[in-house]
Parts: sequence; C-alpha cells; structure tokens
Amino acid sequence: MRRMTEWIIRVFKELPRAARLSIFLCRCPLCEKDLVLEGEEAICRQCLGKIASIDPNAPGSPGCPVCPVCNRPLGYKSERCGECLTAPPLFRRHVSYGRYEEELRELILRYKYGGVEKLKHLLAGFYMEVYQRKLAPGEPRGFDFIIPVPPDSGRKREFNPVSEIVKIFSKRSHIPLLSGRLVKVKKTLPQAGLTRSQRLNNLNGAFRLLGPSPSMSGKRILLVDDVYTTGTTIKKCTELLIKEGADVVAMTLARSV
Ligand SMILES: [Zn+2]
Ligand SMILES: [Zn+2]
Repeated sequence: MRRMTEWIIRVFKELPRAARLSIFLCRCPLCEKDLVLEGEEAICRQCLGKIASIDPNAPGSPGCPVCPVCNRPLGYKSERCGECLTAPPLFRRHVSYGRYEEELRELILRYKYGGVEKLKHLLAGFYMEVYQRKLAPGEPRGFDFIIPVPPDSGRKREFNPVSEIVKIFSKRSHIPLLSGRLVKVKKTLPQAGLTRSQRLNNLNGAFRLLGPSPSMSGKRILLVDDVYTTGTTIKKCTELLIKEGADVVAMTLARSV
C-alpha cells in the first residue's frame, strides 16, 4: 500500500505543472481559462492585467489626472474636482484601487454574490496595494483603526464578504480592525438608480455609532468599503465619525467613474 502511494506521488510530481493543475480544475472565474502559469492563484494573468488602475502613475494606467480629494479621474489637472469644490466632503481623502468596470466589477460581484471565496485573498491584496502605494506614503502617523462600512442589519448572512477581506487586510497592514462600533440600523434600498436626494434620504439614519468606547476623539480612522459609487455611503459614515472627533480617510476597491 505504501509503495503504491509513493508511486502515485512520484508520477504526480513528474507530470508537467499544467497537467497537475488541470487535475484540480483550477479555472479563472472570469474567463474560464485554466490557471496554469506561475502566480495564477485566483484569476489568470490576462484578466488581472486588464484591471484598470485609477493611479495615474501605475504601470499600464491611462495616465489621466485624478482629483486628489475623492480620486475621481479627471480629463485635466486640477486641485480638486467640481463636486469637491462645490461640496467639499468631510473625509480628508478617498483612494480606490481601480475603476468599477469590466474585470474588477466582475471580480467583486463574483466574490460577493457568486460564492467565489478564493478571491478574498486577491481582493485583500488590492487593498494592501492601494494602501502601500497611495496612502501610507502620505500618512506618516498611520491609522489607529480600520472601520469597515457595515452591511444591512437585516441581512441574515453568516458570511459577510467585505468584512472577510477587510480582516485579511487588517492582519497584513497591522492596523487594528474596529468592528461593531459603526453599525447599520436600517435596511436600505440599493443606492444605484436613485437620484441624489433619494440617495441621501435612503441613508438618513441608516448608520449609528454604538457605545462610547473606544473614543473617536483625535483618532485617525481608515474607513473601508468595497465600492465608491456616488460616495453617499462613505460620506454618511464619515459624518458620524467626524462628529465624535475622528479624522477620516476612506479607501475602496473600486470607484465608479
Ligand atoms: Zn481570466
Ligand atoms: Zn473630487
């Protein structure tokens, strides 16, 4: 029996990498191609390379300037975008890994609603990359806590997809995760498709800060969500944290442009 097992292991090791991987049917969840190249853990290199970064200095990015406050891609160089000029947000700045379109959008949706759990490490890596590349260099004092934007209170799901990836990011970045202080107390409609005033009304009273501890006074908070669409959710959460004296910087995986 032992000889048989050793023989199977030896034969398996001698197979080319492609053949070994295809036995386990590792496929790219976006294009269905077999993952056979070195470093292809969750998606294929081609799909990974197609994800459009918002950072104008990133390799392969379109190089268009962005609003330094909300990270909106602009067609021109400016101190801030029109929206940040007319209605300056309360957060100090917001940064996002990429544009909420095509591969990145598909990846986030597959992870959140398609049950493709193995994508969580890849997405946590995106948080880490945007943090190291765009945030950490400008924040020498670092952050006291990561606070994730909470999901709907009525959502009875054991698996909270965003908090899973934020947990991994917190471990890698060594910034303590503070869950349960910022909560969602109202079930809301999806923000997409609502007008600006409807969006604000929809989220009125939706979030709350529970308990007095730890104090938010003077704390540097990294507020994290998956997608920045209109920014209303991030802005509502920021408002609560600022009222208690925090300094807020926001970070997301993807931004609508
Ligand atoms: Zn692919
Ligand atoms: Zn802006």
